[in-house]
Amino acid sequence: MTSVRADEERPGLYWADLEGRRSPATKNLAPGISVYGEQLLSSGGVEYRLWDPYRSKLAGAILNGLRGYPFGPGRRVLYLGASTGTTVSHISDIVEASGTVFAVEISQRVARELLERVVKHRPNVIPILEDARRPERYGFVYGKVDVEYCDVAQQDQTEIAISNARRYLREGGDLLLVVKTRSIDVTKEPEEVIRGEVAKLRSSGFEVLQVVNLEPYDRDHALVHARLTTPSR
Ligand code: SAM
Repeated sequence: MTSVRADEERPGLYWADLEGRRSPATKNLAPGISVYGEQLLSSGGVEYRLWDPYRSKLAGAILNGLRGYPFGPGRRVLYLGASTGTTVSHISDIVEASGTVFAVEISQRVARELLERVVKHRPNVIPILEDARRPERYGFVYGKVDVEYCDVAQQDQTEIAISNARRYLREGGDLLLVVKTRSIDVTKEPEEVIRGEVAKLRSSGFEVLQVVNLEPYDRDHALVHARLTTPSR
């Protein structure tokens, strides 16, 4: 039998002991349903889902020492680049039924899978089929959010994150920005690309708290954790 214990500092995060190997896990909000083929396991009458760092950059960042953790029950999260919902589903587990994940995805084909795999089983995920470059078009996001997670893999991903934050992120709220260094400028060294993106965030009212390299889980990716210190304009 696998033992699972709660992380002492990060609500909603669990650690499963798999014969000596530690794996992050979340409590399954939709029992019996595996979203992307991840293993389900029961411990103490509760079902958990293993969180695969090779499939979800947030799990990779946690394993690589992400210090801040802005999630927890009841949190409101704006997620840009939801794709088929791998990471969205774990955040949905963590924020529980009292929280909300607004999941923005531009591709209709991908969004269909998001609906089928995730939204159908999780009332706390609100799908928004829109271009994240047009945050003024999101009909369903009411009020401000506590956390913005941005993983759109676009050259202007930092500008996209900033414009969404201006509109929807509360003061003191957290931004987790996945920087795909190669999609920004293939001719620059990754460190140089990251320095440039960090500078954009700093000049837009963010305090940059940490940059986590995602190797070996993801090549050429880093996750930037920043906090909005200047009120959204
Ligand atoms: N975050 C996902 C996860 O961990 O499960 C993976 C995201 S994938 C790298 C990037 C996604 O962003 C794709 O599904 C793509 O269709 C979407 N995307 C790209 N440009 C976008 C835009 N302008 N607005 C909204 N979504 C976009």
